[in-house]
Amino acid sequence: MNDHRKLGRELDLFDTDPLIGSGLPYLFPDGAAIRKAIEDYVFELERRHGYRHVSSPVLAKRELYERSGHWAHYSEDMFPPMEVGGEQFVLRPSLCPHHALIFAARQRSHRDLPLRLAELGGQYRAELSGVLGGLVRVRSMQLNDGHVFCPLDQAAEEIAAALDLIQAAHAQLGIRASRYRLSLGGDGAKYVDDPALWDRAEAVLRDVLAQRGQPYDEEKGEGAFYGPKIDIQLVDPSGRESSIATVQVDFFQPDRFDLSYVGPDQRDHRPVMVHRSVIGSVERMLSHLVEVHGGAFPAWLAPVQAVVLPVSDAELPAARALVRRAVEAGLRAELAGPDRGSLGARIRAHRLVPYQLVVGAREAAGGSAAVRLRDGSQAGELPVGELVDFLRVRASPSF
Ligand SMILES: [Zn+2]
Repeated sequence: MNDHRKLGRELDLFDTDPLIGSGLPYLFPDGAAIRKAIEDYVFELERRHGYRHVSSPVLAKRELYERSGHWAHYSEDMFPPMEVGGEQFVLRPSLCPHHALIFAARQRSHRDLPLRLAELGGQYRAELSGVLGGLVRVRSMQLNDGHVFCPLDQAAEEIAAALDLIQAAHAQLGIRASRYRLSLGGDGAKYVDDPALWDRAEAVLRDVLAQRGQPYDEEKGEGAFYGPKIDIQLVDPSGRESSIATVQVDFFQPDRFDLSYVGPDQRDHRPVMVHRSVIGSVERMLSHLVEVHGGAFPAWLAPVQAVVLPVSDAELPAARALVRRAVEAGLRAELAGPDRGSLGARIRAHRLVPYQLVVGAREAAGGSAAVRLRDGSQAGELPVGELVDFLRVRASPSF
């Protein structure tokens, strides 16, 4: 069984320290390299689909969350306020309120819509049971979030586009949804009490799912406090299910923040907010990827994409030159020289690296390397220039 906590430690991806605290993992360089690869991929995917990226602070005044409704419906999951200069600040429980304010900060016309804003930013949850050493229940996470502000008649199209985006990303990450879930509100103070608003949002989501012929289950008490959502569920090899990607339609926050745009009739209209997360939090996604791939990540995600293995010290200069060229070409490449053991031992130590480039006397003399794949097969001998192009293509995500 691939337990991400055990693998994360073995692969030097992440760890925790009692002085930092439970539920507050940090990433080692290899873990941070994967995070950067995911972040770059999602940024580019979103950019190609019409998103503009914003950047906003990880905390705000308590009043912001009173306005957004988090304070009334979600405060038990929030860190307590910090008092500074007579004002109270809260670590943000979500990015939505910041994005609503960014929308409201300028006058918007119907010609600006749909306005798609995205951010990968910090968000915080006061978990009482941070599971020590894991990435699943954490108190600090980097969330891939996005909000589409649009007229109601564009919402279905935007929800469908967000589902397409999620499917494309999952294919690229090498993961598969176990099921789609329509997550509905429940009873009690955790949910906004406005049945008409819930019905309206639910109808929009059901329509999109029906139009796509997408089978789904429904579950009460799993919605956001302000509205229902479509959750794309994943199951870890250990059987644990989680919601990572999600699409929501929201009539509540646009009201709370009094959002408006000027319509073709020159009057003010209320937009709807489509909330969506393609990969959820980096931490949760990383734990899922570690378990699914068992450390043998797709080449574009691998912390080290190519390792250069000189057979003997005589080939060290050629091997170092090859590492340099690969690094300059944007690849994550490193050297494992004869001081690290026999060639066989070095290959075993780097068995999870997608490309193992062996440089013997013949290759060094001819300016080439022999390419070995991690399944043990040989991809032949390639001149260094061609080899770098070969790796660059194979170690990049496709869109
Ligand atoms: Zn949101």
